Amino acid sequence: MSVLEAIGRTHLVELTAIGRDLPVPILAKCEHLNPGGSIKDRIARAIVEDAEARSALSPGATLIEATAGNTGLGLALVAAVRGYRLVCTMPAKMSADKRIALEALGARVVITPNAPPSHPDNFRNVARRMAEEHGYFLTDQFNNPANPRVHELTTGPEILAVVRPSAFVAGVGTGGTLTGVARAIPSARIVLADPIGSQLADFIETGALGGDGPYLVEGIGGSEIPSVFDTKLVHAVERISDEESFATARRLWREEGLFVGGSAGTNVAAAIRVARTMRRSDGPVVTVLPDGWDRYRAQPWARTTNGLDPSRAPQAFVRFAPHGLEGDEGVAALR
Ligand code: PMP
Repeated sequence: MSVLEAIGRTHLVELTAIGRDLPVPILAKCEHLNPGGSIKDRIARAIVEDAEARSALSPGATLIEATAGNTGLGLALVAAVRGYRLVCTMPAKMSADKRIALEALGARVVITPNAPPSHPDNFRNVARRMAEEHGYFLTDQFNNPANPRVHELTTGPEILAVVRPSAFVAGVGTGGTLTGVARAIPSARIVLADPIGSQLADFIETGALGGDGPYLVEGIGGSEIPSVFDTKLVHAVERISDEESFATARRLWREEGLFVGGSAGTNVAAAIRVARTMRRSDGPVVTVLPDGWDRYRAQPWARTTNGLDPSRAPQAFVRFAPHGLEGDEGVAALR
């Protein structure tokens, strides 16, 4: 048995503290407990196995992916076990922790500017160009049908084996999770959790992409509809601010013992809103916790006690400063 067998079959935990006063339980699938640390282990394995089955990959081939980090880490795991090389293109906005981890685990990382999809320097365009120029295999999570399919065949059925959800809530990066789970659970109300600043929610509601704004949550939202995202499956949207996402992530750490990343906060914040609209007789609201908090150690939101205001950090850390150092000096010594 290889470590790849440990992907999936994650626990579905009830958020007992966060859900205490809600009419229905919120259940969250612990995708951060996958061996590569995120939900993307599932698609990394599925995409590589699909390519192998189609004889599209020769032994020792180089894989290339445009990634917010997690798909790259999943692919690094699969590449190590199956003997492939890996190149990742990643927008500069993504946390340094993910880049450092990718490089440590054997990938070559190409950082691209935070450019819109129409720009040649956008991370997806750079990956496509490098694949063509160097003959790399483009794993292509945004267009590869193996991405939603693995969620339809594993994530969704794993949820159904435990409960019959009234609603499923998730953010969309590629849309693989939302699309696949929605196909597997057609009876559930499907709710998109979208960061404020993303244009996906506007597209669902109006059929047109809205105004693009900056936001800090990583891995979800966007300014174009990925081809694997079947927007017709979405019944409703919830727009969540960075502040609410990060505050909810911190509640997950401190009240539930779930050490998850920012997009888990977005998902759960939206799930809370959805659960409030349910009747007591309805089934639980289900969501996913896509990755773990340690991917974001370098990000101010994950380092401070109060979220987005780094000026409060020294107050939180100074008590533990060594050698009698105080304030910012003490904090610097701890870094
Ligand atoms: N959260 C995080 C942290 C992610 O990296 C991703 C994938 N980019 C998602 C959520 C969304 O998953 P999907 O691509 O299946 O929509």
